[in-house]
Amino acid sequence: MATRRAFLGTTLALALGAWRPATAAGTRVVLDPLRPGVYVARADNAEAMRANAGAVVPTLVHVTRAGVLVVDPGPQAAWGRALLGAIRALTAQPVRWVVNTHAHPENVLANAAFAGLRPRPRFLASAATAALMRQRCEACLASLSAQLGRTAMRGTAIVLPEPALQHGAWLHTGGTVWQVQVHAPAHSASDTVLHAPQLRLLCAGGLAYRGRVPEMQEASLQGWRQALRQLIALPADIVVATATGTPAQTLVPTLAYLDALAHGIGAALAAGRDATQAADAVAAGPFRHWRHFPTRHPLNLQRAWRQLEDAWMQGEPPA
Ligand SMILES: [Zn+2]
Repeated sequence: MATRRAFLGTTLALALGAWRPATAAGTRVVLDPLRPGVYVARADNAEAMRANAGAVVPTLVHVTRAGVLVVDPGPQAAWGRALLGAIRALTAQPVRWVVNTHAHPENVLANAAFAGLRPRPRFLASAATAALMRQRCEACLASLSAQLGRTAMRGTAIVLPEPALQHGAWLHTGGTVWQVQVHAPAHSASDTVLHAPQLRLLCAGGLAYRGRVPEMQEASLQGWRQALRQLIALPADIVVATATGTPAQTLVPTLAYLDALAHGIGAALAAGRDATQAADAVAAGPFRHWRHFPTRHPLNLQRAWRQLEDAWMQGEPPA
């Protein structure tokens, strides 16, 4: 019944006008087709905030003859239920797999909406992501509730994934195979990537941004750069990450930004400068127009400086 209501709500909302970011009062999900059977949920290309109710993750939905794969179901139960309604409008196939790419609350807390389904889907993550979720999802739920408001997060319970995804393994969904990569640490302590070579499609979680300054609060600058260099080498035409686009629109500029941090700070350390000169050390011109630059870039400078300085003290050459 709840599913049916969500479905009706979604179709009604679709009829009423253009898409806008979700609000607590009327969450809606629009699935845009990417490939035959592959869809991506329209989301705000921004950081989670009240204005977008945390609807910032372009969830990947893959409808196969063996069931539906959902990657990063989103920030809260209401979004997850609306997503499920949008999936029901496409197919009667059961949701069989829900993948959590990394342990950030806006990506994983909508697991709650899928836990009551029968048959129950498998919730899948890397061992490190599953362990981190077990450790801190309570705190993440509390902090996202504080950020977005309790109404937005109503009914959101924590549903933990199995630690089943291993680097180099393959996830079989109907006729499609997804290669699993686990990069740890990179954007977060552990970031899972799914790559479908036949579809030339890459699902990169938090590892790629488009026109927005990357969030590095838990990132490893060098680990993330290394991950992106590997992803750029993969055969893919479309990347679904914090936004959707070609590799040239997502992977390449994200790496360019991280490279600018590494090269600028590395040179400043070699010249004996200190952290107060970090902003001048990095050539940030090409990224100034990116979203959240004034607030996010200074935080990234500090984090990158600390990491490279530690490495420099330990005798690693600047990157
Ligand atoms: Zn993230």
